[in-house]
Amino acid sequence: MEEKKISKRFLSELKEGETAVITRVKGYGAFRKRIGEMGFVFGTTVKVIKKAPLLDPVEYELMNYRVSLRKSEADLIEVLSEQEAASLEMKDFEGTISSQSTRKTLHGKRKSINVALVGNPNCGKTTLFNLATGRHEKVGNYSGVTVDIKTARLTRKGYEINLTDLPGTYSISEYSPEELFVRKHITNDLPDVVVNVIDASNLERNLFLTTQLIDMNIKVVIVLNMFDELEKSGAKFNHRALAEMIGIPIIPTIASKGIGLEELLDEIIAIDEENEPVYRHIHISYGSHINKAIELISLEIKKNKTLTDKYHTHYTAIKLLENDSVFTAEIEAMPGTEEIINCAKREISKLEKEFKEKSSSQIADAKYAFIRGALKETLKRKKDQTVEKSHRPDKFLTHKWLGFPIFLFFMWAMFQSTFSLGSYPADWIDAGVSWLSNFIGSNMGEGPLHALIVDGVIGGVGGVIVFLPNILILFFCISLMEDTGYMARAAFIMDRLMHKIGLHGKSFIPLLMGFGCNVPAIMATRTLESKKDRLLTMLIIPFMSCSARLPVYVLLISAFFAKNQGLVLLSIYTIGVLVAIIMSLIFNKIFFSKKEAPFVMELPPYRRPTLRNTLIHMWDKSVQYLSKMGTVILGASIIIWALGYFPRDKEESPIRPETIQVAENNLTNQSVDSNVETVDFEIAKESEHMENSYIGKIGHFIEPVIRPLGFDWKIGVSIVTGLAAKEIVVGSMGVLYHSDLAADETSVNLQTKLQQQTYTRGPKVGQKVFSPLVAYTFMIFVLLYFPCIAVIAAIRREAGTKWAVFTMVYTTAVAWLVAFGIYQIGNLF
Ligand code: GDP
Ligand code: MG
Repeated sequence: MEEKKISKRFLSELKEGETAVITRVKGYGAFRKRIGEMGFVFGTTVKVIKKAPLLDPVEYELMNYRVSLRKSEADLIEVLSEQEAASLEMKDFEGTISSQSTRKTLHGKRKSINVALVGNPNCGKTTLFNLATGRHEKVGNYSGVTVDIKTARLTRKGYEINLTDLPGTYSISEYSPEELFVRKHITNDLPDVVVNVIDASNLERNLFLTTQLIDMNIKVVIVLNMFDELEKSGAKFNHRALAEMIGIPIIPTIASKGIGLEELLDEIIAIDEENEPVYRHIHISYGSHINKAIELISLEIKKNKTLTDKYHTHYTAIKLLENDSVFTAEIEAMPGTEEIINCAKREISKLEKEFKEKSSSQIADAKYAFIRGALKETLKRKKDQTVEKSHRPDKFLTHKWLGFPIFLFFMWAMFQSTFSLGSYPADWIDAGVSWLSNFIGSNMGEGPLHALIVDGVIGGVGGVIVFLPNILILFFCISLMEDTGYMARAAFIMDRLMHKIGLHGKSFIPLLMGFGCNVPAIMATRTLESKKDRLLTMLIIPFMSCSARLPVYVLLISAFFAKNQGLVLLSIYTIGVLVAIIMSLIFNKIFFSKKEAPFVMELPPYRRPTLRNTLIHMWDKSVQYLSKMGTVILGASIIIWALGYFPRDKEESPIRPETIQVAENNLTNQSVDSNVETVDFEIAKESEHMENSYIGKIGHFIEPVIRPLGFDWKIGVSIVTGLAAKEIVVGSMGVLYHSDLAADETSVNLQTKLQQQTYTRGPKVGQKVFSPLVAYTFMIFVLLYFPCIAVIAAIRREAGTKWAVFTMVYTTAVAWLVAFGIYQIGNLF
């Protein structure tokens, strides 16, 4: 190909009235994005309209509108003068270049691609450099051979590639002059492509530098050098999978034998032309605490345009958090950065106080966790290779066969302790709540206010607060698993299974938590990096049967299923899981059809947890739950109460607190003694009142909709009250079905009442309301419909109003359809 010498020119060098075509935009991050949005992209024609008296800023015209740029910005835009562009014989040139062949020519006409070689000492950079350039720089099998940089030029496919061999470093921090030198070269000389040479026989160590390049958000190609050594060791490395995960193309080479050079050069051109499908910018996850700190610092950084133009925001935040003194000093010297620095200092001391370790080592640990996770999935070493000491447990915990049963055992232990240990304090709280409502009940005059406090506030919030111990224990176990590093392994084990339903391994934990309570489960989706995973997980969590639904099952199963009670219960939970899987598959099809690139699951080192930290983390999670209870559940309880209380005749007495309380307490009481027949007059009156109250009217109103499911209006009322919290369902049933709840054998009594319940009007008058089929259908409906107000509020906070409303509607629709199917098919037999 004929080469024409073209001098390097930047937009800032053009004179007034001159026109040129953009061939390259340098610089990073926000600057690149902003400038691109303005239209300063490859192939666009720009005309200089006016230079300000001090030559700054300059007004340009492009695509028929005018913008002004500072000189510092125009310095980063490379151009080709109009004459040169004309020499490309672009006959149909109309401001932008669209035809693929012209683009190619223009790319080819571009002066050069500047490429920097970075990598650990002794990974073969110089060998590669010599091979590519035909030069004979000294290579040696010891570090520090390359003391100063060498640059050489070669041409390929019409490109002039300027290759720079940089000193070998293990990192690009500030520990040695070499490191600083490499960093300066990348951030100041802005090479177009960085070639990261790594020694394939020592991937962990070499990939560390790669993680730093990932943070910088620059164009990187990885050279997997010494590929012969890797193969000799008998290891199997799926480098394509790794490339997909980290968004960087990987080219295997054997520099000493000249293998792979051609591919590398082509790859450099492809990535420079932005013609490389694998290439994408990823964010390494540093774990929730560091991620949060990065987020906070980034918010401050984003306010400073000069800074975001110079460095990628994420990178700046990480560097500041690492307390890199050279970098920090540089930022400090820039105007208007005090707040950023202060924020970084605050976050550093927070992290160091909590983990008793330098923030920089915490970040390095997280980087190694990332590397380990990436290699766990892609690199199969030969058996006898040694495992790091701190990772020895991985031999078992993520073992192909053993990992799964061990995991199940831990899960079982967690739930077992959640429920068995939790039941003692739960009983105490329960007793406390009853005492409180009795105390207030007997020390306060009857009336609406009394009813509001006792039934609305204490009844509603009290019913939920009894779950607090269980939730604290659950959170304690989860924090413990997180702090030891086991959680990452659990996600790892579940990953393959979860992928089958379009989810990520990490989604498993929130889903599992959903069996305890959906609210913290929704909050736990925050640990998922991808927005799609977060949303999808949130949408199916409501089908994980939370513990608040259990009382309903216990009541109905003991009333209508004499045999196989455990199996019936299990079937309900299983249906929930099946519906979740089906919905996940469906949502994947409709909303998230775009295939997501795979990503790395970090494997942090195992750590000995400290009780203090675990308690702190537990408390952090619990506070969110408590605040929900104080607001949403309180509000909803009061509304439900009011709907059941009004309208009201003067003589009527309010619902007694014991009514709802006792109904819940005694469900587990299974003594079969059905001779209690007395129907308390009070209760009968209450029931009648409830029918005439607003909520009773709502129940009647929705009856036509639920009749195809075999439900009567009383079930309808219970369903409506369950919107606030599903624990309330049983309480409502107690009132509606005339159960003498003041008696001791209440649970049995309510069961008998349900068994005897008949229709008093309508076409089915005289028939039994409940059959095992209706009971089962009702349980499935309770399982699937509208989770509860608190869950919807949590979804709204995490994903926005739109998704909260969507969840409300779709879960109820699914519940209706499934219940309808079960009832109608069941009726055939
Ligand atoms: P640098 O420090 O990164 O510049 O590394 P050098 O280019 O000086 O190479 C260090 C040593 O590795 C030299 O002895 C090279 O011959 C050897 N080497 C380079 N590439 C390969 C390769 O692909 N396979 C093998 N087996 N040895 C290589
Ligand atoms: Mg060298």
